[in-house]
Amino acid sequence: YSAKSERNQVQFYKRKYSQQESKRRMVEKKLKVAIAERQLHLFFQPRVDIHTGKIRSVEALCRWDDPESGSIPPNIFIPIAEESGLIHDLSQLVMEMVCQQLLDWHNTGIDVTIAFNLSVKDLKYFDLVHNLRDTINRYGVSGKMLEVEVTESAAMTDVINTVKVLKQLKDFGIKVSIDDFGKGYSSLAYLSQLPVDNLKIDKYFISRLSPNFKDHMVNLNIIRTIISLAESLNLNTVAEGIETPNQYNTLKSLGCNMGQGIFFYHPMPANQLSKLLQREQRLARSTISQ
Ligand code: C2E
Ligand code: MG
Ligand code: MG
Ligand code: MG
Repeated sequence: YSAKSERNQVQFYKRKYSQQESKRRMVEKKLKVAIAERQLHLFFQPRVDIHTGKIRSVEALCRWDDPESGSIPPNIFIPIAEESGLIHDLSQLVMEMVCQQLLDWHNTGIDVTIAFNLSVKDLKYFDLVHNLRDTINRYGVSGKMLEVEVTESAAMTDVINTVKVLKQLKDFGIKVSIDDFGKGYSSLAYLSQLPVDNLKIDKYFISRLSPNFKDHMVNLNIIRTIISLAESLNLNTVAEGIETPNQYNTLKSLGCNMGQGIFFYHPMPANQLSKLLQREQRLARSTISQ
């Protein structure tokens, strides 16, 4: 290794870094405009009762179609929103879109709970509770129709604050889920203090529910343990990312309560989901009247 080649190497990484950095800045700038002009929209993925297959609620997932770059996934733009401070405006927009959708569905005879995702930054933001209450009142929707999803790692970042915020949300009737459970590091002592309703088992574990994986039995036992932990804490379990009949059957036999994933439904636009929900409600009515 000569000093010269080392210098070149450093130059190379510097250049590469600054390319990435300028790309990130560009996305950030576009995102700011997209939020201000309300160009983001929501897709909805049903969460079903694992035993009956009936839709219990839906999760709102944010989508961004940039005219130039095409569709940019949330795994890219949410972290950028978090780093740049745009997340509060983004979350506010998501809450408004969720409330508007609740109203639109309600007006066509559909009442379904909508879960939406909050970031760790939202939990720390002192105006969240106030803004959420204000939004709910402005749209005239009931907190009972809402659910908030916070990841395990977000919830555990500052547990005292998390408990405080989630308690206030629950006072409005809002339900709470811990998202991506099993991926972070939960303090079990704190978990029992969190005012939550559901544990969503991270899709990493679900994806490894196949005898093809060497550690398949260990994985199975982890899922079993999460479900029994949830039962002792009186929480419902939701498995995310169910893709195959085998995964579905295993989770059902383990006593998981609810499921989400492309085995049941892909995330979809609101109008597509309306048709689905209307059909389910018609079916439910005809079974009752039989
Ligand atoms: P998440 O909340 O854990 O959402 C589940 C993700 O799994 C979604 O990805 C969903 O489309 C995807 N998914 C659904 N079914 C399957 C399946 O069968 N297999 C697999 N492999 N994946 C499946 P998506 O929509 O790309 O969102 C990624 C993450 O971005 C979300 O993870 C959430 O953390 C975040 N996110 C999405 N929308 C919002 C939002 O409005 N606000 C915030 N703060 N975060 C959001
Ligand atoms: Mg989620
Ligand atoms: Mg998740
Ligand atoms: Mg996730």
